[in-house]
Amino acid sequence: MTGLSRREFSALLGATAISALPMPAISANHEAELPDPKGARIVIVGGGWSGLSIAKYLKTENPKIDVVLVERRTLFFSLPLSNLFIGGLMPQSQLTYRFEDAAKLGGYIYFNANMTELDRSRRRIETNKGWIDYDSLVLAPGVEYDYSSFGVKNPDAITELKSKFPAGFVSVDEQLSITKQLASFKKGVFVLTAPPGIYRCAASPYERACLIAALFKKRNIKGKVVLIDSREEPAVNGEGFLSAFEELYGGWIEYMNSTGIEGVDPFSKTIKTDFDDIKFEGGAIYPRTRAARMIERFDLNDPTSPQKEARIDQFDYNFVGDERIYVTGDCRPMPFSKSASVANSEAKHVAKVIATRLQGREVKWVTPESVCYSMVNTQPREAILSRSFYRFDENSKQWAFDPRSKPYNNRSERLGAETYLWGKTHFREIFGRI
Ligand SMILES: Cc1cc2nc3c(=O)[nH]c(=O)nc-3n(C[C@H](O)[C@H](O)[C@H](O)COP(=O)(O)OP(=O)(O)OC[C@H]3O[C@@H](n4cnc5c(N)ncnc54)[C@H](O)[C@@H]3O)c2cc1C
Repeated sequence: MTGLSRREFSALLGATAISALPMPAISANHEAELPDPKGARIVIVGGGWSGLSIAKYLKTENPKIDVVLVERRTLFFSLPLSNLFIGGLMPQSQLTYRFEDAAKLGGYIYFNANMTELDRSRRRIETNKGWIDYDSLVLAPGVEYDYSSFGVKNPDAITELKSKFPAGFVSVDEQLSITKQLASFKKGVFVLTAPPGIYRCAASPYERACLIAALFKKRNIKGKVVLIDSREEPAVNGEGFLSAFEELYGGWIEYMNSTGIEGVDPFSKTIKTDFDDIKFEGGAIYPRTRAARMIERFDLNDPTSPQKEARIDQFDYNFVGDERIYVTGDCRPMPFSKSASVANSEAKHVAKVIATRLQGREVKWVTPESVCYSMVNTQPREAILSRSFYRFDENSKQWAFDPRSKPYNNRSERLGAETYLWGKTHFREIFGRI
């Protein structure tokens, strides 16, 4: 599987930073330079798994719709499979793709800009490169970290945590920082945390513990991975992860379950838990996540949501009270897995909702699907899998798992191979290349 060839990858890295460039939040006093719309203009903000998938499926639903994808990054980096990159099982180039390729394949416009303002009364967004008027708007800006959730409020401490011990759940820069830490890690505790609430990729902290422990084992490092979790057992695939910890990494992984975090001091490298203090040498410290701050800034959040998620119709995804604005991906309030597979599968439904509403019709809700492979062994490459579907329980008025949901806890090489295939299939679908 190759995202970009080695030469293309090096050339692009030389030309531009891969992650979000800091862009000034200036107020636009001119219109963005875009071709005149030939049909209803749907603007999508955020070119992650959600935004990219909606852009593609909208054009599939109706090629006459004018779709503009506004994304501030210059290159796409896939977070799914990025634990394989951290564990040395996949090069960065295979996770890196061009937005231009996705736009060409899907027949829509990629506009590299940072959205700064929303004017709902004029149906207009502002970007650092001018304003864009929309018929409908989809916001899919992903998540941000909430360090205050474990008591860290001092800006210097947050900066230190973000730069020295990043969680690695939002940007490629964090992943690069973690791999750098691991390359020079000699001994001691490498700490990981699994945050409370519904966080991005439920299986990922446990998978990461296995892959880092495998590296330590291979290099015979005098250290261990300490994974702190407030839950009694892993959030998904409990049986599969616990047997991997015990059978493959006894002595290399210490799983501290039922342990709450009360504070983190990145300067003295100490985590205060409700039981005792843990000293660490390195780590990827993952705080609770929240919807990207733009959702709150534009008054689109649900005031009762602890993770500041959007106040949307939970079946049609439009903001309650405004059918011209949709919020999708990891900013949704429904307790679905915050995963690329949910973002990708729900995008098919959201694209249908938007396209059929333009014709004055409505569509029925269909469940998204979460597919999450976790590589737990590296020699041989064996994975486990969690697959979930959802249903709305009319009696309790709560979301629940559909009975088709199932964990596959017996690690196998077949699931290991399927992990790579999942990536290939999705990269080919969105970017037309692998
Ligand atoms: C280590 C790891 C492993 C994972 N493994 C899996 C897995 O195996 N399977 C799975 O299904 N999922 C997995 N995930 C989860 C998956 O990556 C996320 O759930 C998914 O990326 C969510 O998509 P999104 O589009 O909502 O957000 P994102 O992918 O974060 O995209 C948001 C986009 O919005 C852009 N943006 C934000 N603000 C602005 C603005 N103001 N203007 C313009 N652009 C903006 C950002 O630059 C970004 O590109 C994993 C995640 C991690 C971190």
